[in-house]
Amino acid sequence: MLDKSPASAVSAPNDLAAFWMPFTANRAFKRTPKMIAGAKDMHYFTTDGRKVIDGASGMWCTNAGHSRDAIAAAIASQAKELDFSPPFQFGQPKAFELATRIAQLAPAGLEQVFFCNSGSEAGDTALKIALAYHAIRGEGTRTRLIGRERGYHGVGFGGTAVGGIGANRKMFGNLIAGVDHLPATYDRDKQAFTKGEPDYGAHLADELERLVALHGANTIAAVIVEPMAGSTGVLPAPKGYLQRLREITQKHGILLIFDEVITGFGRLGYGFAAERYGVTPDMITFAKGVTNGAVPMGGVVVRDTVHDAFMTGPEHVVELFHGYTYSAHPLACAAGLATLDIYRDEKLFEHARQLETVMADAVMTLKGQPNVVDIRTVGVTAGIDLAPIADAPGKRGYDAMNAGFHDHDLMLRIAGDTLALTPPLIASDADIGEIIDKVGRVIRAVA
Ligand code: PMP
Repeated sequence: MLDKSPASAVSAPNDLAAFWMPFTANRAFKRTPKMIAGAKDMHYFTTDGRKVIDGASGMWCTNAGHSRDAIAAAIASQAKELDFSPPFQFGQPKAFELATRIAQLAPAGLEQVFFCNSGSEAGDTALKIALAYHAIRGEGTRTRLIGRERGYHGVGFGGTAVGGIGANRKMFGNLIAGVDHLPATYDRDKQAFTKGEPDYGAHLADELERLVALHGANTIAAVIVEPMAGSTGVLPAPKGYLQRLREITQKHGILLIFDEVITGFGRLGYGFAAERYGVTPDMITFAKGVTNGAVPMGGVVVRDTVHDAFMTGPEHVVELFHGYTYSAHPLACAAGLATLDIYRDEKLFEHARQLETVMADAVMTLKGQPNVVDIRTVGVTAGIDLAPIADAPGKRGYDAMNAGFHDHDLMLRIAGDTLALTPPLIASDADIGEIIDKVGRVIRAVA
């Protein structure tokens, strides 16, 4: 379908050689590029003039839909008013305003916000705060960091080390020392085709007790997990799992960090998934949805007592030797405030709670399609596992992504042979229906 939007007039570049694309099969891409020129609300516009429905919220970030006027206006006027000011030792009003607004979305007790520019920086920042917190309180032996198999916490050295996706780690040597991983919470035999949090798996949190017994609690600084592991293919936390993790970490003085880079800002129907589960961690990392993806921003919401431990010593001395030139960048703060206004005014988190059922019911209709071996749902998110092609793991998923974009006007995210559906929270029931219909066609096309 040819779209008349101005974006369709943008032409594709002739020379693709110089850009080494991130997390991309570069050679294949450059032979058959998937090129996007514009986007509005639920859709992208391609350079060849097609309108493609976004089943992935960009990359889990455009929760309010694309290219929102209010966010664009806020960024533009901020760029004219104050483009940059140093975030070290100087402040600008919107940073404080946004920190307050984000803290209000977090569970009581998590009142402090540290800003950075991405989910990766947020992960590394939270891990460094955890280490420094223990050191400052005279518990410097607590240096061990614990992540989870199949977890994803970005691509910094800390996040890569605690992350548990083999392909992301294997090439990068020793990473950082003293890292352990809890087992992944997914077991297809016991959880297949579950809507929402699976019944099986809370006991897997008890593995933390094993690590405590092995190493001693006084060597462990923090545990970091995603309430829903996304990049590894949508694995919702089993019922009771996060509560159990909270009990064990609390018992042993270990900080608990939730990586909410994708679950934050409405994806699971709440400002943060911590609220959905009634579990208060010590830190929450966020990024993506905070600015609706329009300007890079990330951060960590930190428990008051953790923050307060740093507020000792002479007042002229920096309390935490960490931060980024672009922490709380004025453009990101302006975008963040405009984004949070949209979430509030359009009641998108409440809408997400309604969409959850629509999404779960619709996606489960794909059970029985060729090669579909499992479907998982939680919030406005679903993972569909396709059986791999023999000797070519990931190929069927990769083909599905390409078929979606080129032949069915559908933007899909993939994790290996898992299709991850995570549409913007502004989606209507009809949008969800259209996406699922297209996914069905794609699945049949790659059968
Ligand atoms: N944590 C999680 C849970 C994520 O899903 C991601 C990105 N998908 C990150 C961290 C890293 O975020 P970024 O790409 O902004 O560095």
